Amino acid sequence: MVPRLKRPYIRAFFCLFKGGKRMAYQIPRGCQDVFGSDSYKWQALEQTLRSFCYMYNYDEIRTPIFEHTEVFKRENDSSDMVNKEMYTFKLENSKTSLTLRPEGTAGVVRSFVENKMYANPDLPAKFYYMGPMSRHERPQKGRMRIFNQFGVEALGVKSPYVDVETIVLAFSILKSLGLNDIKVCLNTLGDDESRANYRSALKEYFAPYVDELCSDCKRRYEQNPLRILDCKVDHDHECMKNAPKMSDYLNEASQEYFNTVCELLDKLEIPYEVDDKLVRGLDYYTHTVFEIVSMNSEMGAQSTVLAGGRYDGLISYFGGPEGMSGIGWALGMERLLIALEAEGIELETKPALDAYVMCLDPEARTYAFEVLTSLRAYGYRCDMDMMERSFKAQFKAVDRSKAKLAILIGKSELEEKKVTVKNIAHKEQESIEVEKLIPYVDSVLEEESHHHHEHEGE
Ligand code: ATP
Ligand code: MG
Repeated sequence: MVPRLKRPYIRAFFCLFKGGKRMAYQIPRGCQDVFGSDSYKWQALEQTLRSFCYMYNYDEIRTPIFEHTEVFKRENDSSDMVNKEMYTFKLENSKTSLTLRPEGTAGVVRSFVENKMYANPDLPAKFYYMGPMSRHERPQKGRMRIFNQFGVEALGVKSPYVDVETIVLAFSILKSLGLNDIKVCLNTLGDDESRANYRSALKEYFAPYVDELCSDCKRRYEQNPLRILDCKVDHDHECMKNAPKMSDYLNEASQEYFNTVCELLDKLEIPYEVDDKLVRGLDYYTHTVFEIVSMNSEMGAQSTVLAGGRYDGLISYFGGPEGMSGIGWALGMERLLIALEAEGIELETKPALDAYVMCLDPEARTYAFEVLTSLRAYGYRCDMDMMERSFKAQFKAVDRSKAKLAILIGKSELEEKKVTVKNIAHKEQESIEVEKLIPYVDSVLEEESHHHHEHEGE
């Protein structure tokens, strides 16, 4: 038998093809670089998210991108994320096991308890966060190993109003970005008592089927049988159809809590569907759980853009007051960008320059650089050629930068302390004394923007 070539050999061949040069470095699988006009999309998205949180009085919280492993790996957790997807490491000579955060909630709750924020006079403590999360998953469209989440948490008050506030926030953000094809799915997992009853019902019901279910479900059967309902492998197994429903096991208090959540959403005219199979991927949820799903066909299996729920046990698990509860959600920023694109919604691209300084004589370079610097000092967005290119090449750069003005500086401009300003849209140019450049640019660009607004108003 011919042994298969191992990866390193294959790489060695590529080196040869590239003329024996060193193998190019490549980004790890499931990761992505954001640059060029994409970075402006990201900034536009982040700006919208921050503005909404500002309106809703949620403060930003920044927690580390790794935590002690125990923060994420909690006893008896049956979720895939905790069991197979975590990047966990120990440095040499260290006993401390650290884990790159796979999600945001645990770190926020750790910080809430560690900093005794539960003692604040004003609760809930309301936070938002955004940043990279790491999960060892099989990369696919909308599923990455390093991806970014934006999330909110409201900790310390258990009230249907808080649940609904977070859902309204989520829904309003997605709507304001322009997403139309979305659906809010809602369910309740009830309190501990309700879930314990439901859990025994599920154990009894699934007992004859466990052997036929996938290996993850066998583990779930022992640790958290609710999660069997969320299994992507056994989704179509016969036994799923007649499984007991959470709604039949809710005690009165849990039912009443959920009813209030639904009534408030009705009042605020937030459309939602109750989905009694919705159990969510994490084990800590109680009461309200929800997802916002994009119905656009391009999303494929990765159609859940945002997900969250209430957690009754997490704060006390981390050493906070007994019985204190929180709620939160997170959205996948890459997935959201895919959903926006699928609906044809365009976010910002790279904005045009106000002015591009063209240097037409090496002797005038320092003078041109001074002009550039003073324009910037007045807040104009501008740039200049640093490659000592020909007139023609510099003019192409002006085009690419979409600059409104080209400021030409050559030997005569240097000698006469002038600049030549070319208005690209009007195809006019004027010679200006350098002292008058700023007021001139002010007036030209102001006129431009008036003109622009008039057109917008039409
Ligand atoms: P899924 O069922 O798709 O694996 P999940 O239940 O693991 O999702 P959560 O932990 O609730 O997801 O994370 C909230 C959101 O984060 C998801 O709805 C999704 O938008 C995003 N997300 C989760 N995992 C990934 C990933 N690997 N790549 C990109 N986005 C992700
Ligand atoms: Mg997952």
